[in-house]
Amino acid sequence: MPPAHTNPQAAATTSTAGITTIYPARRILTMNPARPEATHVAVRDGRILGAGPLEELAAWGPHQLDRRFEDHVLMPGLVEGHSHLMAGTLWRYTYSGFFDLHDAEARLWPGAKSLDAVVAALTSSAASGASSDAPIVGWGFDPIYFGERRCTRADLDRVSPTRPVALLHASGHILNVNSVGLQRGGFLRTGIAHPGIPLGADGLPTGELKGPEAMMPVLGHVGLSRNLLSGDEQGMRAFGRLAVRAGVTTATDMAATLQEPEVETLLRVTGDAAYPVRLVPLLRLIGMTPAEAVARAVALRERGTEALRLGAIKVVTDGSIQGFSARLRWPGYFNGAPEGLWYTPPESVRECYALALRAGLQVHTHTNGDEATDMALDALEQALAEVPRRDHRFTLQHAQLANAAQFRRMRALGAGVNLFANHTWYWGEEHRRVTVGPERAERMNACATALREGVPLAMHSDAPITPLAPLFTAWCAVNRLTASGRVLGMAERIGVPEALHAITLGAAHSLGLDAEIGSIECGKRADFCVLDDDPTTVPPERLKDVPVWGTVQGGRVFAAR
Ligand SMILES: [Zn+2]
Repeated sequence: MPPAHTNPQAAATTSTAGITTIYPARRILTMNPARPEATHVAVRDGRILGAGPLEELAAWGPHQLDRRFEDHVLMPGLVEGHSHLMAGTLWRYTYSGFFDLHDAEARLWPGAKSLDAVVAALTSSAASGASSDAPIVGWGFDPIYFGERRCTRADLDRVSPTRPVALLHASGHILNVNSVGLQRGGFLRTGIAHPGIPLGADGLPTGELKGPEAMMPVLGHVGLSRNLLSGDEQGMRAFGRLAVRAGVTTATDMAATLQEPEVETLLRVTGDAAYPVRLVPLLRLIGMTPAEAVARAVALRERGTEALRLGAIKVVTDGSIQGFSARLRWPGYFNGAPEGLWYTPPESVRECYALALRAGLQVHTHTNGDEATDMALDALEQALAEVPRRDHRFTLQHAQLANAAQFRRMRALGAGVNLFANHTWYWGEEHRRVTVGPERAERMNACATALREGVPLAMHSDAPITPLAPLFTAWCAVNRLTASGRVLGMAERIGVPEALHAITLGAAHSLGLDAEIGSIECGKRADFCVLDDDPTTVPPERLKDVPVWGTVQGGRVFAAR
């Protein structure tokens, strides 16, 4: 007797058990080096039975032919190796970014082109909401486009003098709050001496809070705590819709708190037969010792499912380059901004690495500045001397300023890298002009050097920092255009095949899932990205415009529209 449920998707899955479906397609780009192309793919029980000619696949026995993808191009389901579930959750707040952006319902939100426009948008959202004491929250704020002036609590007091107002920066590393927000966090007082809390002439904080220590006391008061942002069902569902529209079938939540209620919601939502994306949430090392984090991750690993992969750890070493909170080596910031912040002390990073290596856990480490990359590599070298382990898959996340020597060290230590290719488009001009200057801006997210030095390469959006769209990310790495149309770092451009590898098998490898996903071949999960056009034959400058029809995930079909 079938289980009692009303979901048609689930019903379809149940009734296809043991049945073989063969999909003809205009072209299938398999990413399987032994058979790079195919015309048909056979699926049984959520897995790929084979990819090849119809006659060959028909030899597996009785099958049904499903012609719905006959005019489409299939790729392996795209893998977003660094995103956050809050890309779905944040949409309940006011989008305050500079660039236009689509929400989970494909609605276009225009960018705010000045601080006044941001304040006006927050003010109107406050007016349209229910009258209450509820916080007024914006996200995606990016003042680097607005010149030298920083946003202060006085700017946000214009939105409301009585309700907390918070503005999360696009980097996710800085929060601006109004006076009420500061007061709720216990910060509306003189005598604060913290590098992440700049003070005004009156001795009171300006309202800018940099880094987790400074932000944490306020986040909960304004609805932005991490467990809320990554453990919320409505947000997870919205994230699922964003994933289908982007062709993504596996995605990370790169910094979760993974407290018990959050884990239960994740298990329930991903266990729903209609949920379209395999989630890989990473436990962030924060507010606990490395030993506690490793023990928690080991316990979580046991509870993972096909749809929810648990057990990896995320460590954050520094802040963001455009927020001037990243740790840069000499000569530091181009505009003379003071050195950034350490988020996790080197000793804790090393200890976490050693314990994780011993437990067989994977650690992903955020490093933005090159000094932070050095710190992570030093810590890994020491930890590996203590606990030698091959194929540990430790991965540096962002490593935006890594140079050739650092990539060679990654290779020597067996580390992979997941570069933030989208930065060139979104912040390339600002990096060139303000943060690191022209020479270092050209080597940011150096995909070509990483590949040349033999480092396993993935690339990412860090959604919601930039939109979830791996084909756009691939386009960024192939073209390296800034928003002003300049090619920034000509020598670091990579080819379309390498870029498509990085958003499928490359990202799968970084998560230790490349034996299961990332290519279309016998035995792997039936995860496909269904495209209206062929990304290998469109001009490379149009790669980002290839329309995504939807996805197939574990053999289940999800149309984007
Ligand atoms: Zn991130």
